[in-house]
Amino acid sequence: MSFDETKSSSEKYIMNVYNRFNVSIAYGKGATAFDEEGKEYIDFTSGIGVNSLGYSNDGWVNAVTEQLKKVQHTSNLFYQPAQAEFCKNLCEKSGFARVFLGNSGAEANECAIKIARKYSEDKYGESRSNIITLNNSFHGRTITTLSTTGQIVFHQLFKPLTDGFMYVDSGDIEQLKKAADDSVCAIMLETVQGEGGVLPVPADYIAAVAELCKERDILLIFDEVQTGAGRTGKLFSWEHIGVKPDIMTAAKGIGGGLPIGACLCSEKLKDVLQKGQHGSTFGGNPVVCAGADYVLKNIADEAFLKEVTEKGEYINEKVSSMPGVKFVRGVGLLLGVKLADDEARKCAEECAANGLLILTAKTLLRIMPPLNITYAEIDKGLGVLKSVLEKRYAKKA
Ligand SMILES: *Cc1c(COP(=O)(O)O)cnc(C)c1O
Repeated sequence: MSFDETKSSSEKYIMNVYNRFNVSIAYGKGATAFDEEGKEYIDFTSGIGVNSLGYSNDGWVNAVTEQLKKVQHTSNLFYQPAQAEFCKNLCEKSGFARVFLGNSGAEANECAIKIARKYSEDKYGESRSNIITLNNSFHGRTITTLSTTGQIVFHQLFKPLTDGFMYVDSGDIEQLKKAADDSVCAIMLETVQGEGGVLPVPADYIAAVAELCKERDILLIFDEVQTGAGRTGKLFSWEHIGVKPDIMTAAKGIGGGLPIGACLCSEKLKDVLQKGQHGSTFGGNPVVCAGADYVLKNIADEAFLKEVTEKGEYINEKVSSMPGVKFVRGVGLLLGVKLADDEARKCAEECAANGLLILTAKTLLRIMPPLNITYAEIDKGLGVLKSVLEKRYAKKA
């Protein structure tokens, strides 16, 4: 297929729910991607924070293919060595007691919601099912996780959504104290609102939320779907703040490119869900687990995570001084770039045309390259970004 054929077949046969760039990715290596005709792109996206170790990392490919040769799938009614190995490592390295594996971020959050409601129902009866989330959050696309998402635009068109969600403003602890009455079983938040514009939630606010949760026996849930798996320079982003949640969800980057969603819980919650109360046909697939275990072993390493932080600081400093850039925010290799005219989408399209794949988040550019991107690739990508920004903004300055 040529690029034009890929594009026209996609538009004819695939539901058009994605606002796609005029780019097709046929193959790649590291942080460099190519289309069908060999056009090269530096990748500052990792998919959307998924390909933690870049395209077709040798060790990861090997781990996945070796597992494929042994067994590709079996029901969760049987024990599975690859699943057991990964889940042991994930729990030990993250410090949680147990994990449930599904196939996406939304599913991981659904599991977190079920645990929170069940914990509360077991202890207090039915009256305490509400969950508070933050305005401007993003938690997924299922009917329930749309409800969980604190952005009214996502609530239109698909009503009725799932009941039992309330929204408060990030940073306003007094508002939360009023909202967190005895109808509330959990508070869920992202430490950095990724889709919401790479917007960090203040650390002192998160600490105050944790305090309140402890006082009122409300469960604290962190959605680390975007911020987890080394993305921020820690294995999970709560380590920056020193506040460990009762439940943590992860997805995107932990699989290195294969579909996975993980819901982890603390010791006190490990028996809340009992046999038959939750499950997944594909969740915990052995091939996915073998790949995820390889990713985990590579990123749960101090030297590796230190490099993530350093690369993030390097990119931040370079981009901050480019024309048209108001500021750069974010942590590690999860960065948002605020432009003078908020025309991030147009700018990202121009970058793509010139060989750099870069994301947007609301009106910001969003940079989230593979965690092992090389400095040579970073410099090449920054070169494209700079020339695009110079063309757009230098004359006006
Ligand atoms: C992407 C994302 C989700 C949804 O993940 P899916 O795998 O698309 O279901 C949930 N929460 C956060 C914070 C995300 O960034």
